[in-house]
Amino acid sequence: ESEDIINSFTSLIDEFGLEDEVQIVRTGCFGFCEKGPIVKVLPDNTFYVRVSPGDTEEILKEHIVKGRTVQRLLYTDPVTNENISDSKGIEFYKKQIRIALRNCGFINPENIEEYIARDGYMALGKCLAEFTPEETIQEIKESGLRGRGGGGFPTGLKWEITRKSEADQKYVVCNADEGDPGAFMDRSILEGDPHSVLEAMAICGYCIGADKGLVYIRAEYPLAIERLKTAIKQAREYGLLGNDIMGTRFNFDIELRYGAGAFVCGEETALIHSMEGLRGEPTFKPPFPSVSGYMGKPTNVNNVETFANIPVILNKGANWFNKIGTEKSKGTKVFALAGKINNVGLIEVPMGTTLREVIYDIGGGIKNGKEFKSVQTGGPSGGCLTKDFLDTPIDYDNLIAAGSMMGSGGMIVMDEDDCMVSIARFYLEFTLEESCGKCTPCRVGNKRLHEILDKITKGKGEVEDIERLRVLSSVIKDASLCGLGQSSPNPVLSTIANFENEYLAHVNDGK
Ligand code: SF4
Repeated sequence: ESEDIINSFTSLIDEFGLEDEVQIVRTGCFGFCEKGPIVKVLPDNTFYVRVSPGDTEEILKEHIVKGRTVQRLLYTDPVTNENISDSKGIEFYKKQIRIALRNCGFINPENIEEYIARDGYMALGKCLAEFTPEETIQEIKESGLRGRGGGGFPTGLKWEITRKSEADQKYVVCNADEGDPGAFMDRSILEGDPHSVLEAMAICGYCIGADKGLVYIRAEYPLAIERLKTAIKQAREYGLLGNDIMGTRFNFDIELRYGAGAFVCGEETALIHSMEGLRGEPTFKPPFPSVSGYMGKPTNVNNVETFANIPVILNKGANWFNKIGTEKSKGTKVFALAGKINNVGLIEVPMGTTLREVIYDIGGGIKNGKEFKSVQTGGPSGGCLTKDFLDTPIDYDNLIAAGSMMGSGGMIVMDEDDCMVSIARFYLEFTLEESCGKCTPCRVGNKRLHEILDKITKGKGEVEDIERLRVLSSVIKDASLCGLGQSSPNPVLSTIANFENEYLAHVNDGK
């Protein structure tokens, strides 16, 4: 529909002879999916929601020509009934801090000059001119940034280990193989702000001593791929990638590698094998990729969101960044908020924001006035948390302590109508489908788990099955080779821990 809106604006601007006064800019995701398509009119920042191609003429005639806001297209606050014209006044945005998403919805991602105008490539220039690689790594370490792909490993430490690994060739890899069902954090960053990732990869290359970067991106992201290709081409033309960057004799260039959409290829060793043309299967660590990765050389792998934070940290300083968040989890986290919630969308909140704030203030509460039942964080292998955890501040450690995990940023809300046993079965179906089959606990164990769950949801289970699920889950967690298998029983275990009554109801009522 956005394409139709653009076409409609283009022909109307032509018809009214406004080509010299009005410019249409395609931008990245505003995050407020529930109210899309969104049209923002600058310079007055008017934020129109749920725009259709039929609304374009009124926006042009009323707003652009006569300077009158089209009230019916403004966001209406559900509590006060007030029309709000600036996105800053909308509850959905009030508690958000946008670092990784800072340029999404602001710049034209296909124009490098718009990125440069918002301090783009300034951090790279600063590092090359003023800081040694060691000083840059120290700044990243002091910022407290941890990997946003799910593991939460300290980014600066990872860079330091790769720097200290001696080799004639090293690589920087960006993991853009986002595979969680319903998650689109990385896609939005790449579609809305590809240069932020390229700049960060070049900085990483400078720090670890690599001259080559690779973005492993799933082929199902055609727009992100196109925008990355355009961004790489422009960065080369501007002397920001390639040889002798900014006249400093630093060489660094980036290529794309395409993934076929296997969830397990998000695991870094599987990703590296896939890039090498081998089967996308994980291997045992150590050695870690920082020591022996792509083509057996030291390889620093970070995900898209982690990279997107880097230029801001270096521009504003580690002290600025580490004041945001909690003691052990600094900065912000992007979440794809989905499920039975009023404001489905992409959000970025400071670490330490509570689940209640995310679900009720930003998310606008549960759809159709229903009761909240559970929230699942951490993607298909995360845990389902009850209302008792609503006041839990979100950070890596708190979510693990609560029986879930941060994951890469999927957050799915369930209401009173959802059956938690069916939810556990649904996630297990996903991991079963995505297991690479290399190790028996994951390949066979998850199949058995699924059979038991299926039996229970069909009313044919017995009370002992619940204990069987527990025991088998713990074996799978302990004995699987990679993170996929090790975390695959989490939805089963967390739903048994928090909703055992629902399992018993299936067993006892026979349905
Ligand atoms: Fe493959 Fe599962 Fe074993 Fe990971 S745990 S290596 S996905 S079979």
